[in-house]
Amino acid sequence: MANERSFTKALFHGAIPEEMVFPWPEPGKDERENTALLLEGVRSFAAREIDAARIDREAEIPPAVLQGMRDLGLFGLHIPHEYGGRGLSATASARVVQELAFHDASVATTLAAHLSLGVAGVMAFGTEAQKKKYLPSLASGERIAAFALSEPGTGSDASAIQTRAERNGAGEGFVLHGTKQWVTNGGIADLFTVFARTTVHNGQSKPRITCLLVEREDGVKTGAQQLRMGLRGASITEASMDGVTVPAGRVLGEEARGFKVAMEVLNTGRLSLAAGCLGACKKLIALSVQRALDRKAFGRSIGEFGMIKDKIARMMTEAFALESMTYLTTGLVDARVPDFSLESAISKVYGSEVLWRVAGEAMQIAAGSGYMQGHPSERILRDARVNMIFEGTNEILRAFIALSGMQGPGRTLSEVGRAMREPIKGFGLLSDFALLKARTVLGRERLNRAHPTLRRETVIFEEYVGMLSKNVDKVLRRHGKDIAEMQYTQRRVADMAIDLFGLAACLARTSRAIERKGEEGARREVELTAAFANGAEKRLQVNVAAFDNNDDELLKGIAAQAYQDGAYPFDVV
Ligand SMILES: Cc1cc2nc3c(=O)[nH]c(=O)nc-3n(C[C@H](O)[C@H](O)[C@H](O)COP(=O)(O)OP(=O)(O)OC[C@H]3O[C@@H](n4cnc5c(N)ncnc54)[C@H](O)[C@@H]3O)c2cc1C
Repeated sequence: MANERSFTKALFHGAIPEEMVFPWPEPGKDERENTALLLEGVRSFAAREIDAARIDREAEIPPAVLQGMRDLGLFGLHIPHEYGGRGLSATASARVVQELAFHDASVATTLAAHLSLGVAGVMAFGTEAQKKKYLPSLASGERIAAFALSEPGTGSDASAIQTRAERNGAGEGFVLHGTKQWVTNGGIADLFTVFARTTVHNGQSKPRITCLLVEREDGVKTGAQQLRMGLRGASITEASMDGVTVPAGRVLGEEARGFKVAMEVLNTGRLSLAAGCLGACKKLIALSVQRALDRKAFGRSIGEFGMIKDKIARMMTEAFALESMTYLTTGLVDARVPDFSLESAISKVYGSEVLWRVAGEAMQIAAGSGYMQGHPSERILRDARVNMIFEGTNEILRAFIALSGMQGPGRTLSEVGRAMREPIKGFGLLSDFALLKARTVLGRERLNRAHPTLRRETVIFEEYVGMLSKNVDKVLRRHGKDIAEMQYTQRRVADMAIDLFGLAACLARTSRAIERKGEEGARREVELTAAFANGAEKRLQVNVAAFDNNDDELLKGIAAQAYQDGAYPFDVV
């Protein structure tokens, strides 16, 4: 059956649970006013205190900036009031991270790592005692949090971490041995969410991952700043734990279920990351528009040239789609939709790639000046690159989007297979499947709530939801479990899901804008939605055609040959 708990997973079945994304989620009046007031405060604080060029140059966020963030209550944005936080929604909290990222990526990353990685774990998995103990000081910023999963030997493959947590003598606490790498906030954090292998003696002695709350005073040693391309102001260090004793009561979530903690925390983290990408895009668009108007060439402003207009229009379109995806997803979180894992992964992948394209085009518009050290375009481009790498690389996330999305239809198919083999026992399953098919394949699923002005874009969405489900069905029947190894196909499926979620988000947002402002008032949103839909339609067409007609084998062969040669073997002399 279609998984009604996740909007995007349902699309893989060909179903469109439109009530999950329509009407476009908007914060209530009070929250809007509070957030606007807070943003005003953040803007004037940033204008006074945040000097992004200096932070980059000196590779440090000045203590006055961290103190200003504390004074504004930023370290407790979405921590509930009862624990001393501001009690904001996920939407408002992401909006503040976006604002900080407009001014400086290192500052935004410091806050996002604290809130969306460190604090998020305590909020989602902490016991009442753990929440009472840690959240108030985390909310005030007296304590800063960090998330320590990656290690020198492993990043993407989190299940292969080597840090060990052994029961101490009394059998109550743990002793930790291991080193974590690239811990954001490493040098300034007081509380580390540490993932380690534990051996559970419940008959099976297989090591499992457990998440522990470790205080700096327990004995965590952090190294110097790890020098890097961008995000230079953030404190990113190693953290080593050589025989660190962690007292009882510090397991976060269930013992041996730490992998689940890590994955769920990262779902939240990816949303902050997407919001940060949006903030940086907005800054780059502002810089690019200014440059397009001011810079003269051939007796005209460069903004008058078609190729420059094209860049600005694409930046605008992609930023609009990113904004729509990100805040549709925070709206799902605020509506307590239990599964937003695909939507947050999609927002992260799309956001990081949009920012990278926008940063490239902003550099092109700024041209020679933009390439010079100290120019904001140069700094923001360096800061932007890591977003495609951390919190799940975009390759890992594309595989995740495709495989999680296909899990539902895969299960349905295997149930059908079983039902066919055991027709009497499987009758119920077969009729479920028949119902689903009747709903989605025989008649195309409709999106009824989009505004009629957006009919053309709505039809594109409906048509390609059908195509996604049809092609997923086809590849699952053809390849079964082998799909887990077929990354070319996974990439196509993931890219279709990204475009479809983006289209749904633009449709929901623009429909709401038309209802509120009328067609003329919402003309610009309508145009941006049309521009995004046109691009998405072309990409969707290419992806659909490539399920049957592609050069996957040719490219695999070329890569295999390169591995054999060990390098590029050709030369012209
Ligand atoms: C600035 C910065 C800050 C960071 N902050 C933190 C932090 O606070 N906490 C933390 O725990 N970690 C942090 N990290 C680590 C980060 O999450 C990892 O770098 C990331 O998960 C990728 O791991 P890796 O670098 O080891 O790459 P690898 O896992 O070695 O991957 C190398 C390449 O292979 C690809 N690849 C790997 N497996 C697959 C696969 N199955 N299919 C297809 N492609 C694959 C990857 O996509 C990538 O392109 C940070 C990293 C950086 C750079």
